[in-house]
Amino acid sequence: MNSGQIKKELKKQLNALFKSMDFVSKNFLNNEKISGRESQVFFNIYQQLGLAWEFLGLQCRHRDGYKRTRDKKEACKICGKIRGTDDFYILLPKKGLKKLGVKANPNSKRTFENKKDAEIVNDTINFYGAVVNVDVHNSYKSNLFDKGINMAAERIFNVKEDNIECHIDNHLIHIRLRDRDRKSKGKRYGGFPWEIKKENLEHFPVIFDFDEKYKFLGLTILK
Ligand SMILES: [Zn+2]
Repeated sequence: MNSGQIKKELKKQLNALFKSMDFVSKNFLNNEKISGRESQVFFNIYQQLGLAWEFLGLQCRHRDGYKRTRDKKEACKICGKIRGTDDFYILLPKKGLKKLGVKANPNSKRTFENKKDAEIVNDTINFYGAVVNVDVHNSYKSNLFDKGINMAAERIFNVKEDNIECHIDNHLIHIRLRDRDRKSKGKRYGGFPWEIKKENLEHFPVIFDFDEKYKFLGLTILK
């Protein structure tokens, strides 16, 4: 189906749904001849139709624009969603590229009072077994180590695959291996290659990529 057909089909389904909702509402809700217990059943049906509306609405791209409602809000002409309200669910296509959100970056120079207020996005997805987290926040005051310190505004990306974790932020790329396998949770050490003795360096299965001017281009870690 092309996007025009999808829109047409969606309109049809939504119109049928609205008719059903109106029918239940008009005939069974606020009907004094119906007992309280029965009325509760119709109320539940109405709620379930509302849920169907929410799911159908996720397919709508609101391309026909908005109309003013009686309470001076703007509602999509196709699905009736009020402009600016949050969705509880996300719809992803089964085939093709899945896109969730737009690239977020820190967007304020202010230092916020706490982490929650500074947060722009902190979201996690388990994608076929790889766990991906994106944490973007503005600067905020933290009580870490019992001292008031300012945490910098940052965009942090983290992916975990098996026992390997890759962390990327504005300043560094850090790959952490075998944390789970390490029996003694002893100290970790770190150092630039030139600080480490050659005989110790030989334990590290790392290959550096560089160009003819020794500009660093990447690295490979053998598993
Ligand atoms: Zn819509």
